[in-house]
Amino acid sequence: MRILVQKFGGTSVAGLDRMQMVMGKVRNALNRGYKVIVVLSAMAGETNRLLEMASKWSDSPNRAELDSLVVTGEQVSISLFSMLLNDNGIKARSLLAYQIPITTNDDYGNARILHINGDRLRVLLAEYDVLVVAGFQGQTEDGRITTLGRGGSDTSAVALAAALRPDAECEIYTDVDGVYTTDPNLYGKARKLPKVAYEEMLEMASMGAKVLQIRSVEFAKKYNVPVHVRSTFSDDPGTLVTQEDSSMESVLVSGIAYDKDQARITLRKVFDRPGIAAALFGPLADAGVVVDMIIQNTSREGHTDITFTIPQKDLKETIKLMEQIQGELGATEIAYDSDVVKVSVIGVGMRNHAGVASKAFAALKNEGINILMISTSEIKITCLLEEKYGELAVRVLHDAFRLDTHDYEG
Ligand code: ASP
Ligand code: MG
Repeated sequence: MRILVQKFGGTSVAGLDRMQMVMGKVRNALNRGYKVIVVLSAMAGETNRLLEMASKWSDSPNRAELDSLVVTGEQVSISLFSMLLNDNGIKARSLLAYQIPITTNDDYGNARILHINGDRLRVLLAEYDVLVVAGFQGQTEDGRITTLGRGGSDTSAVALAAALRPDAECEIYTDVDGVYTTDPNLYGKARKLPKVAYEEMLEMASMGAKVLQIRSVEFAKKYNVPVHVRSTFSDDPGTLVTQEDSSMESVLVSGIAYDKDQARITLRKVFDRPGIAAALFGPLADAGVVVDMIIQNTSREGHTDITFTIPQKDLKETIKLMEQIQGELGATEIAYDSDVVKVSVIGVGMRNHAGVASKAFAALKNEGINILMISTSEIKITCLLEEKYGELAVRVLHDAFRLDTHDYEG
């Protein structure tokens, strides 16, 4: 049995006309000999509407009940879509997570999938041509409803494909037609990538490229499920997110990511002694604040400055936490700045090539762009810049690495 998991997002199921387009994609797969598992999101805007409703009823909604509320959006999409398929002569049925089941832990609002009953899906696929599964939801071992985090239908789809390995392939349909070298809205020369490595996609997603939920990419990587990202509204082949191969390594850089939801904090003249970094970053970790770049300056007379970046939405809370420990750290001042942007050059090819960083820095220098902070990993060079230079930086880096052409070899 060849199985194709096809996931469609909120804009693809937003109305009858859209669902008819989705049906076209499903029919196409059936004609090619697949049994199909369709994973649907709630209609565009619906999950937000439900969340807003909850916030009117309660200042701090019970998290389990909140999940029980927001999963209803997907139930509407899957039953309507199944009706449509049946009316058009396609043998289909809808499935909520508990009917499979898709079992998760009990971290409501952000649950992790523990197990999917693949055998039950195979039995059902012998009877039906299409199973229409509610994305985003799961159930705990003792039967309570959970959700997988915003954008979680992507993860549902990848996990279903993983559970049906090696017979299943996975397509994720969205309103963009693939993964680009950079955001095409920022730079018209952005080019669609035919293929991108899991690691690169993870870096791009964590930098705010919203094509796939990060967790779905982690899942795909862990279980080696190639994920085909495509558009519902065209027949374009899209982008394959897959294992790294030698053709990817021959390309130095595959994309430039951009994230302006950043803030920078500096603590001046903290004590330079063991335990200070732990005292500083411990409370942030406990509060769930994800710290990204960290710089500690050289020490002078037993004191040093520490600068780090965090998501802008966590700025208030971070300052509050810093004020609480300011005395313990000895900091004379807490400075912050949210007019900053993070620009990253990403590519698995960097592992085997020297000189990528210097080339990036030279390109920024030529435009007179000052770099505030730098951090690097094996496959990424990130520069923190003043926000006003962000878009210019994306363009000059894109040009410097000639990302508008296919065949750059370094
Ligand atoms: N409907 C959910 C959300 O908006 C899940 C999804 O769309 O993937 O986050
Ligand atoms: Mg999405």
